This record gives sequence, C-alpha cells and structure tokens, in this order.
Amino acid sequence: MTEAATTTHGGGKMSLTVKVLIGMGAGLVLGVIFNMIDSDFINTHIAGGLFAMIGKMFVNALKMLVVPLVFFSLICGVTGIGDIRVLGRVGGKSLVLYLFTTALAISIAILLALAVGPGVGFNMEGVDTSGITGKEAPSVWNVFAAIVPTNPVAAFANGDMLQVIFYTVVLGVAVLMLGGKSKPFIEACEYMNEVMMKVVTIVMAAAPIGVFCLIAKTFTEQGIELFGPVLAYVITLVVALFLHLFVTLMIILKVFSGLNPFIFMKKMRPAQIFAFSTASSNATIPVTLRSVTERVGVDNSVASFCVPFGATINMDGTAIMQGVATVFLANVYGIDLGLGGYITVIAMAVLASIGTAGVPGVGLVMLTMVLGQVGLPIEGIALILGVDRLMDMIRTAVNITGDAVVSTIVAKGEGKVDMAVFNDPDAGLLTESSLDIDEEAERDLAQYAKPH
Ligand code: ASP
Repeated sequence: MTEAATTTHGGGKMSLTVKVLIGMGAGLVLGVIFNMIDSDFINTHIAGGLFAMIGKMFVNALKMLVVPLVFFSLICGVTGIGDIRVLGRVGGKSLVLYLFTTALAISIAILLALAVGPGVGFNMEGVDTSGITGKEAPSVWNVFAAIVPTNPVAAFANGDMLQVIFYTVVLGVAVLMLGGKSKPFIEACEYMNEVMMKVVTIVMAAAPIGVFCLIAKTFTEQGIELFGPVLAYVITLVVALFLHLFVTLMIILKVFSGLNPFIFMKKMRPAQIFAFSTASSNATIPVTLRSVTERVGVDNSVASFCVPFGATINMDGTAIMQGVATVFLANVYGIDLGLGGYITVIAMAVLASIGTAGVPGVGLVMLTMVLGQVGLPIEGIALILGVDRLMDMIRTAVNITGDAVVSTIVAKGEGKVDMAVFNDPDAGLLTESSLDIDEEAERDLAQYAKPH
C-alpha cells in the first residue's frame, strides 16, 4: 500500500506526508509565478513579509524542540542500553560509519566531476567577487577539545549539539551508576520524552502551511537566470547528490543491514521534505528522530544518540557539494590540483563536517576552508552563491538520509530494529487523528478535573 493510498487511514483523514507534499508543490508553483511577476509589493510584503514570517515561525518551532528532545531521549537511550560497553560500541560504530560515508560521498563526487569537467573554459570576467571572505580551518585538536563543554548551561542555551550530547551521555552514565536510586529520575525522563514527542506531533501538524511558506518564499527569490552560467555545476552536483541518495546509501543500507531500501526510503520521505524545506539538519532532528524510531522501527536507545550525532558530524550531501565545487573552481581557474590536492580536499571536508553544525548555508563556509587549504581563490565562491540555497536544500535532505541510514545499520547490528514496525507501512504515520486525545487519556484527565 502506498502512503497516498493511506489517505483513508485514521477516519478518512489524509496523511500528513500527502498534505506536506501538496503544500510543497503549491509553494513551488506560486513561488515561480511570483518570481516571474517580480512585483515589489509581493516581494516585500507577501513572499518577503507574510511567507517569510510564517516560515520562520515554523523553523523556530522545530528548533525549539531540538535541545529538550535530544536531552530527554538521550537520557532514556543511555539508561535503556544500560551497559557502558554497548554504549561505547554504538558510539564507535556510528562514528566510523559517519566518517566512512562522508569520505565515500566526496570521493565519488570528485570522480564524477572530474569525468564531467564542469567549469572548463569559464570566464570569470564580470563576476562580482566583493564581500567574499574566507574562514580559516580550525585545527583538528581544537575541534575535538570543543566537544567538552565548560558550562553545560551555555551548551544547552547555544544548542551546541556535540557538547549537549557529550554532557547528556556522561549524565546518563552517572544515572546508571546510581542504580535503583535513579528510578524516579529515569521515569520522569521517559515521561518527558513522550511529552516531547507529542510536541513534535503538534509542530509537525503545522508543516503543510510552514513548508508551503518556506518553499514559496525561496522560489520567489530564486531567479531561474541565476542557474544559466553555472548550469554544468548544478547538473553535476544534483546528479552526484541523487546518485549518493538513491544508489550509494541504499546499497550501504542493504549490504550492512539487509533491510529493504524501498521501504526505508518511503518511511524517510517526510523527514527529507522537512530537511529540504528548512535546509537545516539540526532543525530537522525532531522529525528525523521521530521517523527513525516510529516509522523505521529503530529503538530509541540507538536513535537518540545516532540521530543528533549524525546531524552534527555527518554531512554527505555537503561533502559532495564541496567536492564538485572544488573541481568546478579548479577548472574555472585552470588549476590542476593533482591527486594530493584532492586527497587534501577529502580529508578537509570530512574534518570540517565534524565540528560544524547542520544549519543553512554552512556548507559554503566549509568550502572556503577547503579552498584555502588547496590554494584555490576563495572569490570563486561568488559564482555559485546564487544557486546555493536550492543546492543546500537538496544536500540537507541527503545529509539527514545518511544519518538515518547509519542509525538503522548500527541498530540492526545491535538487534534493535523492530521488524514489525519496519514492515508496517502505517507505523507512525501521522494523520489528523494523531492530534486527538485518546479515550483512555481523556478518562484520566476527567479524573484530574474532579475536585479531590
Ligand atoms: N544545510 C546543511 C545542513 O544543515 C549544511 C550545509 O550544507 O550547508 O545539513
């Protein structure tokens, strides 16, 4: 049964995925029309005003979930695993797989770009390169040192995910060490985790409108004319991204977990749409976590660690963009980087992804570090700046799919995938009735309402 066919599920109500897809399609059409009309009023007050406001509120609402959700689900995850050795194994396996998939992604992207050769014979004359500044690559040692927070409250307030994960895991281990005494705290965290998941459901219910506004605003601003001069770059990049998404990642999933990639892909669709619309892996964490646990069937003990960890350190799509962009700019400037140069690019891109949060546009900042390292002119970025938002949207969808693939593989290896959930096409599917208060809960509530 397809998801579209489940529109009758939940008392004749349409599934959220279908609604979000409709919102996305409508936003795209309206955005393209607005772009063609190019009216000042529309640009300032409708697309840049109303749509921008609603879109921002929606992204903010997603972001507001991230830190508390990760905290409570990770405490439940650590205490749920219950064994520090298993915890170390899950951490180690996911780290290796994240680095491996990112390195593989960029290597394939570089090979593809070298074969296609985008940017050869391009003339930089007339390209405005003012305002492009580079960022120094931080040292590897500093990247790792920064994982330990000096002040956990600041880490939570800033939403620094690696620090939040580090602190929460240490706290979870301490909770475990206290044994029976910790029971009330663990129960409270389990309850809070359930509450947070409900808040995710509430926020996701606003997705059709939120996604519509985000997409309409973006496409009103994105002129088709921007794509013309760098079409070869765009096509090579999109092909590389789709190749990784639909072929490489799915082969990796099949080989390492034995799970059916088609079922997996269908279940990840809502999270991919959220990633595409927000261009932020971080903001998408609540949806990725929900999809991986409730739709794919990965146990929270693995997903609560792997998903936020992946959103921060794993960026396959971003690495692919850096690979294609480097080859493109090397061709534009007629510089031959040689094998050593490309190996440096791969190493830099993988390292840069560890310390960089998954937020919109950060891939370009990472690209300045990579270009600086291999001696390519950073001003070249001006060429691809105009098309980067759309590319960011696609690569973010690839990034979060990579996170989900690795989370699923690690969970399968630990025997922590519920196959009944995985094989049930309706498992965790959101419908309007997901927001209903169930009868049992209503009875409980009525009791609380009674005077004692
Ligand atoms: N927006 C991407 C993400 O959040 C990062 C990037 O490529 O700019 O994963």
